[in-house]
Amino acid sequence: MPRALPPTVPPAARRRLLAAARRARAAAYAPYSRFKVGAALLAEDGRVFAGSNVENSSSPSSLCAEQSAVVRAVGEGARRFRAVLVLTSSPKPVAPCGRCRQVLAEFGGDPQVLMATTGGRLREARLAELLPHPFRR
Ligand code: ZN
Repeated sequence: MPRALPPTVPPAARRRLLAAARRARAAAYAPYSRFKVGAALLAEDGRVFAGSNVENSSSPSSLCAEQSAVVRAVGEGARRFRAVLVLTSSPKPVAPCGRCRQVLAEFGGDPQVLMATTGGRLREARLAELLPHPFRR
């Protein structure tokens, strides 16, 4: 039997996520790649947590925008997420990297992943589509 999909993200919440991701993207620290990313998480309780990528001269120490948003959310007590919006200036929407998919999967559920561009393009997927078999101990 197919699993019931959670409801999609309503338009007002999408606008809040986009606005938060836009602000976060403007604050991104990306002096090496010059690829600024903003992310915004919608928690189950309706709160929105944004994050930006924070690069480091030692590149493995860099932090993606999605992870930055998760760190902020978890620090404020949020553990369940309905959606994440990722905003880039790429011509085509960009999906979260593999590490971010695993970080998002840690908290269960099946958040909607909204991949947006500053040019107005949007692609959507469920996290389970992007990471069908997350690592679990
Ligand atoms: Zn990532």
